[in-house]
Amino acid sequence: MTSLRPLSSAAGAAVAAALVLVAAAPAPAQDADARQAAIDEVEALGGTVHDMSMTLWEYAETALEEQQSSDHLVRHLEEAGFEVEEGVAGMPTAFVAEWTRGSGGPKVGILAEYDALPGVGNAPVPERQPREDGVASGHGCGHNLFGAGSVTAGIALKRTMEEQGIDGTVRVYGTPAEETLIGKVYMAREGLFDDLDAALVWHPSTDTGVSNSTSLAMNNFRVSFSGQAAHGASDPWNGRSALDAVELTTHGINLMREHVRPTARIHYVVENGGDVPNVVPEQAGIWGFVRDTARSSVDAHYEWIENIARGAARGTRTEAEVTMVTGVHATLLNRPLQEAVQANLERVGTPDYPQSFHRFAEEMQAGLEIEQEGLDTEIEPLEDEPGAGGGGSTDVAEVSRITPTVSFSVTSAPAGVPWHSWATSAAHGRDGAVLAAETAAKVMAATGADLLTSPELREEARSFFEEAMGDEEYESPLPPGQEPPVGGGE
Ligand SMILES: [Zn+2]
Repeated sequence: MTSLRPLSSAAGAAVAAALVLVAAAPAPAQDADARQAAIDEVEALGGTVHDMSMTLWEYAETALEEQQSSDHLVRHLEEAGFEVEEGVAGMPTAFVAEWTRGSGGPKVGILAEYDALPGVGNAPVPERQPREDGVASGHGCGHNLFGAGSVTAGIALKRTMEEQGIDGTVRVYGTPAEETLIGKVYMAREGLFDDLDAALVWHPSTDTGVSNSTSLAMNNFRVSFSGQAAHGASDPWNGRSALDAVELTTHGINLMREHVRPTARIHYVVENGGDVPNVVPEQAGIWGFVRDTARSSVDAHYEWIENIARGAARGTRTEAEVTMVTGVHATLLNRPLQEAVQANLERVGTPDYPQSFHRFAEEMQAGLEIEQEGLDTEIEPLEDEPGAGGGGSTDVAEVSRITPTVSFSVTSAPAGVPWHSWATSAAHGRDGAVLAAETAAKVMAATGADLLTSPELREEARSFFEEAMGDEEYESPLPPGQEPPVGGGE
């Protein structure tokens, strides 16, 4: 908007002529029209969201292996007119798809995930039954729906902008390897989210509502020890046991627990404890997670664990190597965006799931011997105060500390079933679950339209973000120079 100033009559005539031209171009729509148009566009893309949801479910590719899934989503975005850059931030399965009208701003980002989980694959039936095609991995977290819903939202928002004459940029981020907390961490370090006005994200779930609790900051790390092999009985004095160092390290961590605040969580597995008892283990190691409500606490606990490992190495005359695999912050909530999404969730409503999906839910619950409450079709109210954080961590947190970000869930699986399991993998391959992705796409496209047409909403979200961040600047938790673990694994 330009400000009005007194004009000379000649300038006035020129402006009047320009105004006639402006009036001939499509005028920016009112919020409500743009929002409704976005919802209608998603409705018209029903076939697209179904195709993407089911195709990704069939592929069920795990973290950083999601090549076919990523290609499939990219193809849909390119066909819809997006410019796509693939292989961003050093990950072949990461992409950024962009479409712009006008001078570029404002910019709305929509995050898409598509990685599956190893070992939880299941046929789309209410009992444990391996898939006929032998694929052992499965969409137990519903990222097939996540990717499909987010891409559909991006396409619908682009069509709305064209149709309603709304300027701005819509970007769909293909963020791989969420389950291993990799994708967005490296994309954030690359600065790919820096110029966004806001980021929108959803997640399949057993309920529907706006996320109103934060997640835990976390470091994912490995400690490995190298010693000296020797015969366990004939010359153990020549050996230096890497396993002894592991035992001292885990004992040290367990003593440390008493002296950290109750918000901290530390858990580990012994990945390698040697091969046979009659060889002093030359190599041994643990894989661990350390979490807390604040990034600074995680840094402090991590440093303590490093000291424990170095002490263990000295005491056992072995060598320690501590490697940080990845790390994340705690999620920053954004109240103005939460309220905007809540209003759109209530406008759109929960899906009208088919009877077959309700029956599927009850049969699964009966088989699992849990309450047969079917599908949760209520929308959770948005409480004034954020809830106590769940125990988990997410790499969406990185984005939330770079730009105002909001997340919500839509029911995609029966109430009370175990998440990240065969049961949720089965549910997410059903037609009924696709309606969750469609509903999420409507809510994201509508909120995207709100953001593009309302400078007030963008400003409120930005000032809430700035106040919450204070003088903190986003800093990647990754060690400088660390590359994403693609090719050959870790
Ligand atoms: Zn997930």
